[in-house]
Amino acid sequence: MFETLKEQPADKILQLMQLYREDPREDKIDLGVGVYKDATGKTPIMRAVKAAEKKLWEEQDTKAYTGLAGDPAFADAMINLVLSDAVARGNVAAVATPGGTGAVRQAFEMARLANPDVRVFVSDPTWPNHVSILNYLGIEVVSYRYFDGETRGVNFDAMMEDLGKAGPGDLVLLHGCCHNPTGANLNLVQWQAVVDLLNKTGAVPMIDIAYQGFGDGLEQDAAAVRLVASSVPECLIAASCSKNFGVYRERTGLLMAVSADPSKTSLNQGTLAFLNRQNYSFPPDHGARVVTMVLTDPALRADWAAELEEVRNSMLGLRELLASELQRASGSDRFGFIAQHRGMFSRLGASGELVQKLRDEHGIYMVGDSRLNIAGLNKQTVPILADAIIKVGM
Ligand code: PMP
Repeated sequence: MFETLKEQPADKILQLMQLYREDPREDKIDLGVGVYKDATGKTPIMRAVKAAEKKLWEEQDTKAYTGLAGDPAFADAMINLVLSDAVARGNVAAVATPGGTGAVRQAFEMARLANPDVRVFVSDPTWPNHVSILNYLGIEVVSYRYFDGETRGVNFDAMMEDLGKAGPGDLVLLHGCCHNPTGANLNLVQWQAVVDLLNKTGAVPMIDIAYQGFGDGLEQDAAAVRLVASSVPECLIAASCSKNFGVYRERTGLLMAVSADPSKTSLNQGTLAFLNRQNYSFPPDHGARVVTMVLTDPALRADWAAELEEVRNSMLGLRELLASELQRASGSDRFGFIAQHRGMFSRLGASGELVQKLRDEHGIYMVGDSRLNIAGLNKQTVPILADAIIKVGM
């Protein structure tokens, strides 16, 4: 039977990682895959995570199954982190998932279960895996204009015009903070306008929040998702712990279904647990348990928040340095948007041809759509990148 299989489209970012590995140049620079790296190029295990893992190893006395929804303490801790007191706990159904990707996948499946004809509105551009999963599930994708190629900010008027076409039964996917791949984000006034529009049209929002704490701070980065969750009749929220806890390979995420009517929570919870059962039964526990320990132990939580703040500030510092080095190299302010963007990524808005030139001539690897991972840089490589960007004619 396998002879009928067709080649599947390769993930461009994973392909790029492979090309980078095979490149023999010693001064090559990897600005591709979305993993945080410190100034020495390492993706460290966070101090609080390591401490929690040690404690867990000492104290854990069983590896028996958790519940289908995962450990309820994980859901409580994450709901508190993401939503704080924006909505009452009784309005939130939640399941642990394998990473943010698992949460995204389950969210789409829940929407399709509720409405087999659901259309999902996604920003142009969005994280490519959103579109890939939707295509795989056979769900109709409608893209809405988002990135403004001129200003490298959000084309808000165009976005609102396109979102106006979503209606009841449609899902509108929004990035909670640190938009991937562009780094361009809405301000809170614009978020309020989106909420008003959704309430007018009846479309349901889904927030993907994978970088809480990487933009303007843990609380600031959750402001939009809290606003949405407290203002609409229902919404889905997919949260990832991969980046802000640095637990990429542990596959730790949470899917929340929020309803303004708490009598819906039990049905939502049952649906989410059912979806877990069909797809993989019990979600992974190790990362979730470690995250719970970090969030519920005041000393570990404080240390984690402090380290996350160091990570955030180091990326912000690199952004500012890159913007100023580009100002020096180009003699203009046209790269000022890099300092305005937030999160791990910025989209330069350059052609695929120039991205290729950067790779071929300078050994600098960024994603073909000109997305660069700010965390792939350090103080030494920023000026090298700035000069190379100008040399290739970006
Ligand atoms: N959503 C977005 C926007 C992302 O960038 C990512 C990570 N690349 C994810 C979800 C999921 O990440 P993970 O499955 O590794 O938690």
